[in-house]
Amino acid sequence: MTTAIAPSMKSISFFREKVKDGIIEITGTYSPVCPICGKPMKSHGRCRRYLRISGEKRITLSVRVFYCPECGRYHRELPDYITPYKHLSTDMIAEIYDGTDNYDVDDSTIIRVRNWVRKFLSFGAATVRRLKLEHPALEIRNSFESTSDTLTYFVRMVVNSNEWKFISSPVISV
Ligand SMILES: [Zn+2]
Repeated sequence: MTTAIAPSMKSISFFREKVKDGIIEITGTYSPVCPICGKPMKSHGRCRRYLRISGEKRITLSVRVFYCPECGRYHRELPDYITPYKHLSTDMIAEIYDGTDNYDVDDSTIIRVRNWVRKFLSFGAATVRRLKLEHPALEIRNSFESTSDTLTYFVRMVVNSNEWKFISSPVISV
């Protein structure tokens, strides 16, 4: 018996979606490399992920799981509209933060979401600045169209640089 370690993740922008038996299958367009060591990974089946996209509407996704033979870790491949460990879609989180949300969420959820977004936006900006210093050739974005756009970008940068562990504990979910 081993202690459960939350699998780490890979956040992707390019993927196909196929609905099968009411479940949305996400398949990345590119062969994934390990977010920790950069080596090619091996396929390790799929797992389910639930996501609340508006009001009480939930969807079920099937995402690919990969194993990295180099560092021995498992990674889930998440489409970039998912914020790790959050049950609300990134769009919904952004709308709650912006106050444009009409969804049926309680006040304590609103407070938690807003606090988390505030913390994450500064963490994401700091992470991107640091990545740029470490990898001067890295192209980074400086302008964004909306909160959702900013969050999506920062989620991908933070997840794929394996920095997520510093922002959020898996036991705290929104
Ligand atoms: Zn690896």
